Amino acid sequence: MAGMIPRQFIDDLLARADIVELIDSRVPLKKAGKNYQACCPFHTEKSPSFSVSQDKQFYHCFGCGEHGNAISFLMEFDRLEFPDAVEELASHYSMEVPREQSNRSPAQQKQDQKAYIQKQDDYELMAQISRFFQQQLKVASDKDTAIDYLKGRGLSGEIVKRFGIGYISDAWDGMMKVFGRNSQINQQLVDLGMAIQGDKNKPYDRFRGRIQFPIRDKRGRVIGFGGRVLGDGTPKYLNSPETRIYHKGQELYGLYEAKQATKQLTRLVVVEGYMDVVALAQHGVDYAVASLGTATTPEQLQTLFRTVKEVICCYDGDRAGRDAAWRAMDNALPMIQDGYSLKFVFLPDGEDPDSLIREQGQAAFESILDNATPLSQFLFDHLLSQLNMSSAEGKGAAVDAFKPYLAKLPESNLKDAIVTQLANKFGANNEMQLKKLQQNFTQSTDNKPVAKRTKTTPVRLAIALLLEHPHIVEVLPDPAILQQLNMPGIPLLNQLLALCKQNSKVNSAQLIEHFRGEDAGKQLTKLMCLEHHVEPENAESVFLDLIENFLNVFIERRTEQLLEKERNGGLNKTEKQELHGLLSA
Ligand SMILES: [Zn+2]
Repeated sequence: MAGMIPRQFIDDLLARADIVELIDSRVPLKKAGKNYQACCPFHTEKSPSFSVSQDKQFYHCFGCGEHGNAISFLMEFDRLEFPDAVEELASHYSMEVPREQSNRSPAQQKQDQKAYIQKQDDYELMAQISRFFQQQLKVASDKDTAIDYLKGRGLSGEIVKRFGIGYISDAWDGMMKVFGRNSQINQQLVDLGMAIQGDKNKPYDRFRGRIQFPIRDKRGRVIGFGGRVLGDGTPKYLNSPETRIYHKGQELYGLYEAKQATKQLTRLVVVEGYMDVVALAQHGVDYAVASLGTATTPEQLQTLFRTVKEVICCYDGDRAGRDAAWRAMDNALPMIQDGYSLKFVFLPDGEDPDSLIREQGQAAFESILDNATPLSQFLFDHLLSQLNMSSAEGKGAAVDAFKPYLAKLPESNLKDAIVTQLANKFGANNEMQLKKLQQNFTQSTDNKPVAKRTKTTPVRLAIALLLEHPHIVEVLPDPAILQQLNMPGIPLLNQLLALCKQNSKVNSAQLIEHFRGEDAGKQLTKLMCLEHHVEPENAESVFLDLIENFLNVFIERRTEQLLEKERNGGLNKTEKQELHGLLSA
């Protein structure tokens, strides 16, 4: 990781950002009173309990308890790491993210900084190469072969452009001639998988005589390529190897383009190859992605279900296709909550999505998708095909066969339905069998916990009010007033008071950001959602009353303490003065 992002920058960024605009671009919001609301993107629900406050620059779900500021939202919703979420948010406001020295050793910092600069440089180089490949489609001496191929596949210039498709002629140094300027860049090209280290230290092009499909990450940066050979060469498809910027198990080809094409995606189709994705888009199905390997990984499935609620996996109907589908299903089971669905399409022998849509068109293809096999049916077909359900042994074996899969599925209507369906297969005594099965399959899941109500105590209330209305610090004569007070929660309140005093325009989101990753941060976000029923216009006076009470408690306790000490042996001069002061207060 690069150097730390300066606190001041994050403060400025959060001051500039508008959480309503940000969330609305991903989850359409409706105005509801002072706040905005929507059905929660983090759990399944029919009526909206997800609320976004413009004043607080904060979101909170009363159903599942998810909450946070604009940065947290990007981390959760776009599945970004903290620095990437900051970068993403900053890019909306054309702000450059600065980096500062961290508390790592100077040598480590230097290394961090170097790695960061290296990556930025990698993205830039990959972008340049991608532009070069695209340009080759216009200027290469054998460009007609490539163009004929693309035309033959029915692709329009518009689609070729949207996907950034390019070409590289069949030569050992087509790319190296342009980019391999010195040994440092040569090494970078090898590191990025664009060149292969040959003998005598002379790297040569990895991709030769191929149509080039750039693989973009969630933010649209080119991180690798897939190359489709022209002619009969092997392999037919050649992909970038894993590199420091390309991790194929985490990426989905076409996801960036699908998100660009449709603002509100409702479903995604997972297909095998680049050509399938592009061909589907050409025919109006612009919501297809390709997993960049044989199996769809848990990370990819997570990304898919973060983006849409309906995922349809398209596989060959042969044995390999069914095995791949089974693995995808197994990986997806823990993510299938109510409202989410995973379905399967098995294509006829010899067909792929590309050939199918070219022959039959968009409507026919989409009707295949509409009739995809639901997960439950796939599960039953697969597990029961080998069992004889009319024998006692078969029934016993069925329970054992289902157990591991049902155990992975969260408690949901789907799970209930599967258990009921399974019980029905047992014939008589359904009721009893059903009960037994349910007991068998009930598990303690780590589903989203239902938001717990936080008990309101005076200190918690004071913190909550200050978080919501940071400006009330200004009515306090001396924010350091509570420093001596020894009560749970007071140190945190003091920290907040100090932060508010430093910057009277600070907002709730900025305050919370100061405590990211700390236990205090978790407490604060909980308190942010405290239902206290104090109207905004009364916040100031209620807050002052609370502070006064804290001080009174302190005075009482301290007075008692000093009086007791006097009885037991006497006070020194300062203590005496303090006692007199307290008694006359
Ligand atoms: Zn929720």
